[in-house]
Amino acid sequence: MGKQVLIIGAGASGMTAAIHAARAGADVTILEHKDRAGKKILSTGNGRCNFTNLNQNDACYRCGVPGFPMGIVARFPVKDTLDFFSELGILAKDRNGYVYPNSDQASSVLEALLQELEHLSVKVQYQCGISRVTKKEGRFLISSDKGQYRGDALILAAGSKAAPVTGSDGSGYGLAAAFGHRIITPLPALVQLRCRERHYKKLAGVRSDGEIRLYVDGKPAASDAGELQLTDYGISGIPTFQVSRYASVALHRKQKVTAVINFLPSMSLAESREMMEKRLDLMRERNCRQFMNGLLNSKLSGVLLELAEIPEKQPVKSITESQKNRLFQMITSYETQITASNPYENAQVCCGGVDVRQVHRETLESKLVRGLYFCGEILDVDGICGGYNLQWAWSSGFMAGRQAAG
Ligand SMILES: Cc1cc2nc3c(=O)[nH]c(=O)nc-3n(C[C@H](O)[C@H](O)[C@H](O)COP(=O)(O)OP(=O)(O)OC[C@H]3O[C@@H](n4cnc5c(N)ncnc54)[C@H](O)[C@@H]3O)c2cc1C
Repeated sequence: MGKQVLIIGAGASGMTAAIHAARAGADVTILEHKDRAGKKILSTGNGRCNFTNLNQNDACYRCGVPGFPMGIVARFPVKDTLDFFSELGILAKDRNGYVYPNSDQASSVLEALLQELEHLSVKVQYQCGISRVTKKEGRFLISSDKGQYRGDALILAAGSKAAPVTGSDGSGYGLAAAFGHRIITPLPALVQLRCRERHYKKLAGVRSDGEIRLYVDGKPAASDAGELQLTDYGISGIPTFQVSRYASVALHRKQKVTAVINFLPSMSLAESREMMEKRLDLMRERNCRQFMNGLLNSKLSGVLLELAEIPEKQPVKSITESQKNRLFQMITSYETQITASNPYENAQVCCGGVDVRQVHRETLESKLVRGLYFCGEILDVDGICGGYNLQWAWSSGFMAGRQAAG
């Protein structure tokens, strides 16, 4: 008889851990407080599940101990992820390194995991409200409204606080803390940012290429470029998501956070300036609204002209040097003050979580409690957008499952 392994959480990492523990001969039970498994998987990649990324390096993962995530990912790398899912029937599709199931359906990834759990006779107890988790005489004891469960090893795979409707409501942190684990304050990451200025109401729905540079107390903190989305309260889109965790942390520390956006990111500043000068010359006989036509989104152009204090009807030939400089500044270095990130409900992941300094980097076993393991988002690891958070779930799930099974 193999080891009895208990897993709390039937998300991406918990199911992966269960599969690898069962394949290694363990008798596995997953306890899940929702009525179904993998709810978060269903919302990934806009329902298409960007389940990994072919490009992997340390910079793709953020963690209190740099290098910790890649140490685990290197032991269950992308190739293993692709083989793992291929064996479960998932044909992978590569879009510039971003990998999706060929079905373009996140539900097929979830279904494949569930089929394998069934095949391996892993028991899953749904709607299981856990009241207490302890360790006595070398064994873990879980008290729940479905009864008591005992195991030789316990894996905490309860996710973070991001997207609580999926079941990831932060209660896992309490279970880890009850074993003495330090929790680094979880904060929304991969999330929209709210801005102070009033003119966002006029910008709702605008999409524009942009490079966003985030400053904390005036110092550069992060940057990214791509398609920005402007909303009636602030900024969204992938570049915003990529820098958002730095904004969340700084705002939590009561620091001042500003973002500077270049709406012409494909050109150097000198090239943008040259293009503008030529355009001003070419359009001398038009007005300023007409000058902006075709350069940037029309709603965005209107707001930038207003901020540069240039009336739309003003003839281009009468533009003063200082108006020209202000407009150039607005287009290439538009500054906005970040007041908050959106809440956990809107976040894809959290930064923070179980401090990895109290977790063995080779095995994901707790340094405080033997037989206790962690995987997935509950740990203080967050990936950038692009399939990295799920890769972390698969790699850390593999490691915790294998190790827990002994
Ligand atoms: C909208 C959205 C889109 C995303 N898109 C992508 C993407 O395309 N690519 C990518 O790589 N990542 C994406 N992510 C992130 C990715 O989904 C997560 O990082 C990943 O699912 C985390 O897996 P996990 O197992 O750690 O946690 P979860 O998937 O959150 O699973 C945790 C499980 O534990 C259960 N649980 C929690 N507490 C308890 C408790 N006390 N008792 C019992 N059960 C409990 C929960 O109900 C849940 O089933 C996205 C996230 C969201 C919200």
